[in-house]
Amino acid sequence: MAARVAVEAPCSLHQKGFKREEGCASNLLLLKHLVGTAKSNHRSLYLAYIDFKKAFDSVSHDAIILAGKRFGLGPAFLTHLRSTWGLRPGATLGSPGVLLTRYRKGLNNINRAPLKPQLKLWCVTEVLQPQLQYPLLHGEVKTGWLKREWLAKEGFDLDELPKSAPSDSWDSDWWNSVDGAGCRGSATLPSFSGWVRAGTRLMSGREFVSAIKLRGNVLSTRSREARGRPERPVLCRHGCQRPETLGHIQQSCPVTHGWRVQRHDKIVTAICKHLGDRGWEVLREPNIPTPNGLRKPDLVFWNSVQSFVVDVQVCADMGVATPNDAHERKRDYNNTPIIRQWVNEQSGKPPVISSIVMNWQGAWAQASYNTFKALGGTDELGKLITVRMLEDSVRMYRMFCGAGALRNVH
Ligand SMILES: [Zn+2]
Repeated sequence: MAARVAVEAPCSLHQKGFKREEGCASNLLLLKHLVGTAKSNHRSLYLAYIDFKKAFDSVSHDAIILAGKRFGLGPAFLTHLRSTWGLRPGATLGSPGVLLTRYRKGLNNINRAPLKPQLKLWCVTEVLQPQLQYPLLHGEVKTGWLKREWLAKEGFDLDELPKSAPSDSWDSDWWNSVDGAGCRGSATLPSFSGWVRAGTRLMSGREFVSAIKLRGNVLSTRSREARGRPERPVLCRHGCQRPETLGHIQQSCPVTHGWRVQRHDKIVTAICKHLGDRGWEVLREPNIPTPNGLRKPDLVFWNSVQSFVVDVQVCADMGVATPNDAHERKRDYNNTPIIRQWVNEQSGKPPVISSIVMNWQGAWAQASYNTFKALGGTDELGKLITVRMLEDSVRMYRMFCGAGALRNVH
């Protein structure tokens, strides 16, 4: 907009705001010159500093339009200005009615558009909501109005709305719930979660919606369907005498064992390819003899500088296993003198023992993330691995639900 104004209605040479130049520096030079000249010529000089309090908040947008007209901005540009702020002649910025109409219209348009769900979500979060941010902050909309007029009309139960602003207790309530446990610590754990809001093309619309449901632990399971309905069965439909939760399906049900192995192996393959492309020597699942039997870490690899032992795991979301705990267990399991010595003999270097561990909601262990980055793993590859893992988890859930007649798994 500043670039257009500079062409259509160039303003005073000495006004520096919104111009592509070192405005402060040139005005300081000018001031220095004025003071210097006045002093050397023994002339009086008067300086006035004026600071408009909250200039950006308090100037009416109608006044800006009017000023633009006086400065010679064309009708097309003025129309653009009005539409950018959602102003019609006479309408007030952020008046509740205008906002509500705009939001509904925007949602309708997005909803009707022939787009994948992830692109619709992108439109809402990146286009529609930012448009409302400014009028909501500076307009006339008050919280009370929002609750009374908007949410009530949209069918929300106002008594169910939280009484206070979002706070830390919301987070801990969520993490302590069955559904939210997998997200515990996710704010501090690294993840390649850009796919959620970036309108990813990696997934079909159906896969995307399912992956979001998986992340929120809201896919239908017997435990979930039995909430508030004590007569409903909760045990695994394939007869393993354990409550059928998403965690059970993803991590421990024997029926899904084969698919679980495939999900794991695909991650190992992706890491292997990445390392191979970068010239690492890679051993996949080498047999390392130890007094406790053979050990088979997923990957042993080295180059001329370093060597690594890395196990890959998609870990559970419940119990003791945060991804960081799971990483430590994997590391401690492989961090034995015999394994270190075996790798040292192969590669000529003492190995770094690490892991690639993430939970089935896509949060990575911090140390795994660091290792992945240290090995040249890009955000793009991290996202790809995470998205494929989620797709496999969704597929596993679907196979579980559709896995034919009841099977006795014992
Ligand atoms: Zn089961």
